[in-house]
Amino acid sequence: MLRHSPPASLVQVALPVPVDTLFTYAVPAALAATARPGCRVLVPFGARRIAGLVVALCKEAPPEGKLRAIERLLDPTPVVSPGMIELLVAAARDVFCPVGLALACATPSGSTPRAEPGFALTARGREALVRGAAAPALRPLLEWLADAPRSRRALERRFPAQRGALRALLRDGLLAAAAVETGAAARVPSERVARIADGADVAAALAGPLARARKQAALLERIAREGPLPVAALGGASEALRQLAARNLVVVFDRELGVMAQGANGLADGEAAPPLLTPEQEQALVAITEAIRARRDERFLLHGVTGSGKTEVYLRAIEATLAEGRQALVLVPEITLTHQLVARLAARFGERVAVLHSQLRPGERIAEWRRLLGGATRIAVGARSALFAPLDDLGLIVIDEEHEPSYKNEEGFRYHARDLAGRRAALAGCPLVLGSATPALESRFAAERGELRLLSLPHRIGGRPLPAVEIVDLEKERATLPRGRRLVLSRALAKALAETLADHGQAILFLNRRGFSTRIFCFQCGHAERCRHCDISLVYHASEQKLRCHYCQYEIDPPDTCSKCGAPDTALLGLGTERLVEEVRRRFPDARIARLDRDTAQRRGETERVLAALAAGTVDVLVGTQMIAKGHHFPGVRLVGVVSADQSLHFPDFRAAERTFQLLTQVAGRAGRGGAPGRVVLQTFVPNHYAIRPVREHDYETFYRSELEHRAALGYPPLGRLVHVLVSGPEEAATGAVAEGLATLACRVGGAAADAPSPAFAVLGPGPAPIPRLRDRFRVQLLIKGGDEKRVLAAGRALAERAHRRDLGDVRIQVDPNPVNML
Ligand code: ADP
Ligand code: ZN
Repeated sequence: MLRHSPPASLVQVALPVPVDTLFTYAVPAALAATARPGCRVLVPFGARRIAGLVVALCKEAPPEGKLRAIERLLDPTPVVSPGMIELLVAAARDVFCPVGLALACATPSGSTPRAEPGFALTARGREALVRGAAAPALRPLLEWLADAPRSRRALERRFPAQRGALRALLRDGLLAAAAVETGAAARVPSERVARIADGADVAAALAGPLARARKQAALLERIAREGPLPVAALGGASEALRQLAARNLVVVFDRELGVMAQGANGLADGEAAPPLLTPEQEQALVAITEAIRARRDERFLLHGVTGSGKTEVYLRAIEATLAEGRQALVLVPEITLTHQLVARLAARFGERVAVLHSQLRPGERIAEWRRLLGGATRIAVGARSALFAPLDDLGLIVIDEEHEPSYKNEEGFRYHARDLAGRRAALAGCPLVLGSATPALESRFAAERGELRLLSLPHRIGGRPLPAVEIVDLEKERATLPRGRRLVLSRALAKALAETLADHGQAILFLNRRGFSTRIFCFQCGHAERCRHCDISLVYHASEQKLRCHYCQYEIDPPDTCSKCGAPDTALLGLGTERLVEEVRRRFPDARIARLDRDTAQRRGETERVLAALAAGTVDVLVGTQMIAKGHHFPGVRLVGVVSADQSLHFPDFRAAERTFQLLTQVAGRAGRGGAPGRVVLQTFVPNHYAIRPVREHDYETFYRSELEHRAALGYPPLGRLVHVLVSGPEEAATGAVAEGLATLACRVGGAAADAPSPAFAVLGPGPAPIPRLRDRFRVQLLIKGGDEKRVLAAGRALAERAHRRDLGDVRIQVDPNPVNML
């Protein structure tokens, strides 16, 4: 049944501004019928005009302030569904984000239409055209305007010779000035395509007028036979093609290009027929398919070791979704690193796949978004923001490598894609599948509590063994070296590398290093000083010569000797990928070495180039950071060496052990995916650490149990709640004062005395953040932590509300109720 909304005279509009409220605007009578929720509008805001999204119709104007009116409607029909609006409004509330900033995610940036001055054909102009009264030289221009109003710029570009005539046409009333939508702000990529004109009689033309024109005849036959063809594929815009167009036999038009159609990924290998599923895969698929068919919002955790066939399960589940006539959404951590999944999707589903990610040019992103909006595309794949893709008939959401930190958005609207996907699945009535070889602790714990249904794939496909993992104890290794010599490659790793190269195998050397390396650790035994209260690594502050805990601000003087082994050399960590490349080159001068890290990834296409070289076998040794740990599949890689397995263990974060186990297990999974058995060498100072030892047996469960105990002991998530508050400002004193005020407020709201932290509720800090100064701003942080979720969140919310008030000058406050990266 159609419901007619009463003619709206007022609407609530979400604006992309850091104020947590919707704004009421009047709707001019001319727009009353069309300004509906989900349409974008241009509105006056202060002295500016900005684009916003109509969220709801409303009856009453707010009492205070004068009511302003919408200036323009930017979308003739809604582009954001009511469900998406509901989702984003709720998500904004969850993460303490101003509602307008969250709703801005629903449309791709750069897609807001712009208006330009231009011209429209008047009724009189139309009449002149029909009667043939217009000057012949002006006919093409008027005909073009008869289709749609055009901007002045476009007209002048297309008809440069008639530029001078515009004024006369205006004066004579054939044209009227008009504001013209120039469509999307960014250019949408397109290609010229030729097709047979409607109503053209190809056979008659070939027998008649084209009997002698061989080139034209051949071209026409080909277009008739092969359907619409890109002009480029026909050898470009030839004279023959022009002639066919002039004879009204062929039409040449612009077709918007999907990313898949642009051949943006060269990896699709046209997979053969899908394989027969293993019984384990079958079991998992049956459970998921059943939920798809029943339209049930059941959540699954697909826990399968690397190479166990998870991707194949996703592909089949997508097939089942399409068979139900519904759409599927697949999230991947970072699309540039997941080309193989995209390629497999493309190979199986072809152009039905839309790809959405941040490295697309704005025009490309908009094109993909539109293809989805029209329902033409049934599958969307993309990084976390693809969660907002306009899929009106969603039947399945898959999150691959669900444990990846990149699913958390760290700016503005700080949502976690995993959480939001759960909400979206519930709204759509469809299952959610989280897949990983090393599930996030939260996910595994949710499965334990029955909030997720656990599906396991414990074996590799084809009975292939998991690679043998050798753990090298660097402390012992170091004892054999002269004092002060830097240890880079242990004898075991160097030997394995030599053997692999001699055997014409490939190797990946992995340096687990994040852009933060001022931890102090013992040069002899690898021990790093930790906080007595928080069990996280202390961070060295050069300016004050202190080691400090970034959770509770406990601090000590840097010890002269190691507190574990008594050795006198303690050192700051810092071995980079470049140094490692040098070392490998020195030892293996003939090896072909490539590097992949954050620096090289800056160059568009570089990552793909290096990975393609590895796949093609033109690289022997790939040296890289955690970027290369992701789900690649390189059959030629026999050896994976981890140069410093504990580096991420010293990261000042309660998730350091989890990250370490995940990274090591993922990199270990890179080895031996082809025919030959794989081999992994891990170098570490702490071979018996609970995050490192289980890597040898690929034993997730043992790690999970130990880690859960640690979390429980200190009340860290998922066994407690943590809210991270970061205050930054150009002046140290003012920044500190704001932070102090927030700590007091948090204690008051949470009902705690400032110096009486309890396991249920505690406010830690304020104190300097691990990166205490960034881009000329001082950074101070505090943590609200405890087992009493209600109190922790209430305090967090109060602080967020304080943050949204606009009386803070240059000081900014950021409140994150689900912190993933706390630098
Ligand atoms: P994962 O995603 O768990 O790492 P994949 O789905 O990529 O695993 O599977 C690993 C390899 O095994 C791929 O090359 C895939 O094509 C192949 N594969 C998957 N399922 C089967 C199957 N049932 N039979 C044969 N090969 C399979
Ligand atoms: Zn501490």
